[in-house]
Amino acid sequence: MRFINNRNKEPDELSNYRKTPGVTYDDLGGRIKAIIRGSLLEEQGYICAYCMGRINSDTCTIEHYISQNKHKASPYLEEEHKKQSLLYSNMSGVCVNDSTHCDKHRGNTPLEILDPHSPACEDLITYDLGGSIIPMGHDIDKVKNDIQTLGLDCEKLKNRRKATWEEVLGRFKQEHEKKEWSKELFLEYANKYRNKQKTRKGLKFHAYCNFIVWCFEHYANNYKNL
Ligand SMILES: [Zn+2]
Repeated sequence: MRFINNRNKEPDELSNYRKTPGVTYDDLGGRIKAIIRGSLLEEQGYICAYCMGRINSDTCTIEHYISQNKHKASPYLEEEHKKQSLLYSNMSGVCVNDSTHCDKHRGNTPLEILDPHSPACEDLITYDLGGSIIPMGHDIDKVKNDIQTLGLDCEKLKNRRKATWEEVLGRFKQEHEKKEWSKELFLEYANKYRNKQKTRKGLKFHAYCNFIVWCFEHYANNYKNL
């Protein structure tokens, strides 16, 4: 999970739609949804708000952090769920998948602590070289529950993270012989993957970018033993 900072302003089309009394998210037309998706993709650098997998306009769906429908464990009233379903601040772009992870796996279950719109989300998660995701912090049980709710440690995502790192490391090894390896070089790469990169279709984060950053930082601290 990556913190989404520099949020775009809510699209005017959504603000205007909400002005009509009684309107619902279900009746929001495809045109406005496409505008919202475009805005979310841009601010998120084309990665899923939960798993950091690559998304684009065809493979992105709009997720509501406070779910559209009330779950029995939700602390909010039904009314609040309805209200939040039309607020841009409650929306993020997530991947379309086979229900093994992210919003499809979550359903309406409330998330307890992990929130891609809060900078703290990045301090609550770490990784290992096998691609596993590891909860951290004082509220470790809540983090564990949210990881489970979102399926973030499922085999599919673990394998994808691992395969992506192997690909990135393969490219790194082509560019730098072992004798060139240094703590500074690995930190330089960690920094590169921390930021959006220029592509033909705009600025994008690399898929699973925070995991790649973690791997480069791990190599920076251990490069003498590699
Ligand atoms: Zn995802």
